[in-house]
Amino acid sequence: MKIAEKRTYDMQLLPESERPRLLLVDDQPVNIQVLHGVFSNDHEVFFATNGRQAIKMAHTCLPDLILLDVVMPEMGGLEVCRQLTSDPETRDIPIIFVTGQDSPEDETIGLEAGAVDFITKPVNPAVVRARVKTHLTLKHQTEQLKSMVFVDGLTGVANRRRFDECLNIEWNRCCRHNKSLGLFMIDIDHFKKYNDLYGHQAGDVCLQKVAEILSSQVGRSYNLVARYGGEEFVCLFPGISMENAMSKARQMVKALYECALPHAASDSASVVTISLGVAVTFPAQNRLPEELVAAADAALYSAKQNGRNQISSRNLT
Ligand SMILES: [Mg+2]
Repeated sequence: MKIAEKRTYDMQLLPESERPRLLLVDDQPVNIQVLHGVFSNDHEVFFATNGRQAIKMAHTCLPDLILLDVVMPEMGGLEVCRQLTSDPETRDIPIIFVTGQDSPEDETIGLEAGAVDFITKPVNPAVVRARVKTHLTLKHQTEQLKSMVFVDGLTGVANRRRFDECLNIEWNRCCRHNKSLGLFMIDIDHFKKYNDLYGHQAGDVCLQKVAEILSSQVGRSYNLVARYGGEEFVCLFPGISMENAMSKARQMVKALYECALPHAASDSASVVTISLGVAVTFPAQNRLPEELVAAADAALYSAKQNGRNQISSRNLT
């Protein structure tokens, strides 16, 4: 983790794909045009002209920052801000209010609704650029700190806390989009015996190696590997079918087996192996993500009962 890496968004130097994403929200197209002129050269700019559209765009574009008009017909900026900051998926996106109302009372109401800053119209390009740059930098630094809080120190994969958070977010996302969610619960076979035979330092190296192999097998960036605790790992696969989950699980078991880490005390093989429980379901609002965890755990238990170094699965309906 390179926490010292300081990035203050010298945006001209960034490749297009890494440019900060800005969402501009204003019911007056002319105001959007002005801001677009300020940022379009070195930011990826999205815009919305009403509150509902803004909330939708915030979910689909996942902007790094939102410049939000306060006074709009139907849904005003304060309500948009409240909704975005109370939703786990969008609550970390900094919102700057851009408004003609500049009394201290208005400013207080805006900040209480969850905005990070307040800019008055007509906007001064240099000021709005400077404020946006400051908040993008702060967001980036916060993300770096957060990523440290969410990483397992020994193995470098996500930790339990991160997994719990992701599970909830993905569960809700899959509910909304009617997508499946797959979960693997993974246990290193006879790990206590490994530690007893080779020592705890070797045990740590073994955990690191297993984490590395699982990470290399997990695939797409929105899939997740996490250390669940001790010698247990979990993987999360949004949108996966049972068939693909099983094939992924087989790849993982095989990859670790082929890595051939000696384990002379194992009853299952002469090398380090894993048992793997697979569960897949279509999340629903009236059910809890813990059901998926329990199903994967039950599948893992079966895999172990059946002799370890194997996969077992549960299909939740
Ligand atoms: Mg307006």
